[in-house]
Amino acid sequence: MLRTGKEHLQSLRDGRAIYIGGERVDDVTSHPAFRNAAATVAALYDMKADPAHRDVTSYEEDGGRHSIYFLRAKSRDDLQQRMHGHRRIADFTHGLFGRSPDHVASFITGMAMKPDELKPPHANADNLLAYYRYARDNDLYVVYAVVPPQAARNPDFYQRQNIPLPTLRVVREDDSGVVISGMKMLATGAAFANEIWIGNVIPLAPDQKNEAITCAIPCNAPGLQLWSRQPFEPGCASEFDSPLAYRYDETDCMLICNEIKVPWERVFVHGDALLSRDIYVKTPSHCFGNHQSNVRYWSKMRLLVGLCSKIAHATGADQVPAVRETLGRISAHEAQIAGMVNGQINAFEANWPGNGYVCFNRRMMYGALEWCTQNYQTFVDELRELMGGGVFQMPANISVLRDPGLARDFQTYWQTPQNDAITRMKLFKLAWDMVGSEFAGRHQQYEKFYAGASFIVRNHSYRETDWVAFNKIVDDLMAGYDHGGALGKLAAE
Ligand SMILES: Cc1cc2nc3c(=O)[nH]c(=O)nc-3n(C[C@H](O)[C@H](O)[C@H](O)COP(=O)(O)OP(=O)(O)OC[C@H]3O[C@@H](n4cnc5c(N)ncnc54)[C@H](O)[C@@H]3O)c2cc1C
Repeated sequence: MLRTGKEHLQSLRDGRAIYIGGERVDDVTSHPAFRNAAATVAALYDMKADPAHRDVTSYEEDGGRHSIYFLRAKSRDDLQQRMHGHRRIADFTHGLFGRSPDHVASFITGMAMKPDELKPPHANADNLLAYYRYARDNDLYVVYAVVPPQAARNPDFYQRQNIPLPTLRVVREDDSGVVISGMKMLATGAAFANEIWIGNVIPLAPDQKNEAITCAIPCNAPGLQLWSRQPFEPGCASEFDSPLAYRYDETDCMLICNEIKVPWERVFVHGDALLSRDIYVKTPSHCFGNHQSNVRYWSKMRLLVGLCSKIAHATGADQVPAVRETLGRISAHEAQIAGMVNGQINAFEANWPGNGYVCFNRRMMYGALEWCTQNYQTFVDELRELMGGGVFQMPANISVLRDPGLARDFQTYWQTPQNDAITRMKLFKLAWDMVGSEFAGRHQQYEKFYAGASFIVRNHSYRETDWVAFNKIVDDLMAGYDHGGALGKLAAE
């Protein structure tokens, strides 16, 4: 069943404990720090359910219509359909919602394609499959917190001081489930989601059995607090002045869990450190989730190319040969990510994960992930360079138009051969929200770290590489000649 935006907003009024500093937020759908982004999520649900988009954004299975990102792919066409669905969703926010509802759902769906990796006694495949169906059938928005809090990864410090470990872990269990306490970072989107998946994508030490818990909890679980970072919406003078921060701040929250009871049916892995991480990479989970990230990045690149072009035109530099070369380079970057996304489908893995399912090409997905995470800053810097000091020529905000005298001066002197003053200001304010505002800064951090630090991303790439095949190329080449032949030739000369 596809839910509407109204239904989704209703589902968020569930008494969740979300905090901005010391302020407890009653209702994210009406609070000035969150309401516009909540409306964006609702509009996304409406778009998905709209008959005009439905063929791309949904599919039918088990007698119901479901969001396309729950499709377990059995063919190249299915992979393509997933990609088009991600693209439609990403375009809706220009790729500015990283953890849109299709991100974690793709992790869960990928896992549900190879549930036999959730091996007993420390994992439960039936629970995973039931949760997959629950999320799919109710069109839930699931986000995740799968990283231990920074600097809390060394237990010695806390043990010496007799302080409970801050890292989320199981503190008790009984016949009905486990009890978890502690912190986990960093649930992007939790303010607007229904459920939080808790797990470990970063390897744990083998003895960290209590931390090796993978489970799902509702956002209003008793004992759960969501500590939000500073939201950006309240800092916007107006939509005109900060158009991206105004409606696309997906938010990031620390999870503080205080004795949360998780019933066994929502526990997927418990007590096995290795397995708690393997379930992502021995199933298509990590690949499906991060393919979504690649597609989302592609949408963002399209906005960036458009902004570069419009800004170059606005400054009048677009006909300068050197600037046209810059624009050509930026356009090539967008084509590169387009090619990398499509390549993952063209070179799909027909024989993995098995059980009749297929996967995007994992190496190409990790190649794209490495490229995306390493280069975002460079791409944004191209736009920064094209902007010059243009944004700082603009009035602080659009209230300048309230005063007839100031408005007349602004409209007279800020116009250029390319743009009237208001259009010019609108464009530069939009570009600044991509390059230099606090919202833009958070996005630069996000694109660097959303899939883990760079060494983590490269470890994934290393793991998926067929080193034997690469080594064989060199061995075969070297086998075609030897030192004996070389010595004979040298002697003859
Ligand atoms: C905006 C944003 C949104 C996020 N959203 C989510 C989310 O939705 N869900 C979620 O679970 N997580 C989320 N994260 C967290 C993200 O997964 C982590 O930031 C990421 O895994 C890196 O971990 P860390 O921040 O603890 O950095 P650290 O691991 O502390 O690393 C800090 C720096 O030290 C370097 N470093 C540390 N250890 C090593 C080492 N052994 N070798 C080499 N270099 C090292 C790293 O490369 C990095 O440069 C988000 C992060 C950001 C910034």
